[in-house]
Amino acid sequence: IAKVAETDSEVADAMALELKRQRENIELIASENLVSPQVMAAMGSVLTNKYAEGLPAKRYYGGCQYVDIVEEIAIKRACELFGCKFANVQPHSGAQANTAVYLALLKPGDTVMGMSLDNGGHLTHGSPANISGKYFNFIPYGVNEEGYIDLAAFAKQVNKVKPKLIVAGASAYPREIDFATMADIAHANGAMFMVDMAHIAGLVAAGLHQSPIPYADVVTTTTHKTLRGPRGGLILCNNPYLAKKLNSAVFPGTQGGPLMHVIAGKAVCFGEALKPEFKEYQQCVIDNAQALANGLISRGQNLVSGGTDNHLCLLDLRGTGVTGKELEARLDEVHITLNKNTVPNEPLSPFVTSGVRIGTPAATTRGLNTDDFDKIAEFIALAVTDYDAKKQYILDGVAQICAKYPLYE
Ligand code: PLP
Repeated sequence: IAKVAETDSEVADAMALELKRQRENIELIASENLVSPQVMAAMGSVLTNKYAEGLPAKRYYGGCQYVDIVEEIAIKRACELFGCKFANVQPHSGAQANTAVYLALLKPGDTVMGMSLDNGGHLTHGSPANISGKYFNFIPYGVNEEGYIDLAAFAKQVNKVKPKLIVAGASAYPREIDFATMADIAHANGAMFMVDMAHIAGLVAAGLHQSPIPYADVVTTTTHKTLRGPRGGLILCNNPYLAKKLNSAVFPGTQGGPLMHVIAGKAVCFGEALKPEFKEYQQCVIDNAQALANGLISRGQNLVSGGTDNHLCLLDLRGTGVTGKELEARLDEVHITLNKNTVPNEPLSPFVTSGVRIGTPAATTRGLNTDDFDKIAEFIALAVTDYDAKKQYILDGVAQICAKYPLYE
C-alpha cells in the first residue's frame, strides 16, 4: 500500500481502508480466506508482465522459459496434492473453469443436471442469468426436507431426465457430498460426472472430505476458498483424451493469456497445502464450524440440516421475524461479515432471503479457535433475538477477538 501511495493516494487510501476493515472485522464469508504473505507476494510480482499463451514448452510467445518453470511446478503440485494425472492451472476463476468444462464436454442445448441455486448450487450450475443456463438445458436437483441431497430421489430423477452431464458441488451445502454414489448413478445412466469442489477443495486436499478425483470425469475448483490460494480456477482429470479437450477449451476456447503471477500464487499455495500444517489448519476449520453450529443450536437457533460436516453452517431464520438481509446488515454494523443466503424452499426473494451462510476458513486462518467461535455463535444469536440491547456488547466482544489475532502486521 505504501508503494502505491507514493504515486496514487486515491487508490492507496481505499486499499488502506480495506486492510483496516479486514483487521477490525471477523470474516465469516464461507468462500473467503486470508492468503499467506508468500502467496500475496507471488501475485504482486514481475510475472504479471509476461504473456504466455499456450502451455509450458508450447507457447505462442518468446521469453517463456521461466514462467514455464512456474507453471510446471503448479501443475506437478496440483496433481500431487489431489492425486490425479492432469491439471490445467490457467482458469482465471471458478466460473471460467466451469465454462471451459462445458465447452469441452457439451453442445449448446444439451441437458445437464446441477444443484438448484436456492438449495445451495452455484450460478454456473445452470442459473438462467449465467451462460450455463442460457446455452444449456439445466435441470435442477435439490435437497430433501432435512436439508440433505436425497440420493434415492436423485437417482430416480437422473433416470428420468437422462442428462449428458451431471454437476455436483455447491456454494452453500453444509454436509459431506457422496461423490462415489453420485458418480455411480451418473455413469449407470450414461451421463458424464463433473464435480465443482470449489468450497471444499482444502478439506479434500487434507483428506477430510471424500475426494471426487477417483469418481468424477472432471473436477473443477477455485483456488481461493478453503484451499487458501490466490483468486483463480483449476481443472483436474485423469483421462488423457479429456485433458487435451479441456486444455483447448481453456485456451483458446474461453481465455487468452494466462495470469502467470496468479499461477505462481497457485504454485505457492499448493506447496503450502502439501505440508502437514495444512491438514491441521483444515481440521481446525471443521472444529470451528462444529463449535459454531453447536453454539447456535444451544442458543435456540435453527440450522439447515441441523448442523455441519464441513466449513460452513446455514442459519435458517424462518420464524424469527428477521430476514437474511436484515441480519447481514445488523452484523455488518457490529463488524461481523457474512452473507444472506437462501434456505431450501425459500419463501423470500434472493435479495432478502430467510438465511445467512456462515463460514470458518478465513477466521480460522487468522487463528480463532473453538472458544472464539462459541462467542461468535453467542453474538450472532443475540443479533437475531436482542439486537438493540446487545449491540454495544457485541461490538466490544468482536473488538476483543480481533485484537487477540493481529492480521498482516
Ligand atoms: N463454483 C462454486 C461452487 C462456487 O461457490 C464459486 C464461487 O463462489 C464458483 C464456482 C465461482 O468462482 P469464481 O468466483 O472464482 O468465478
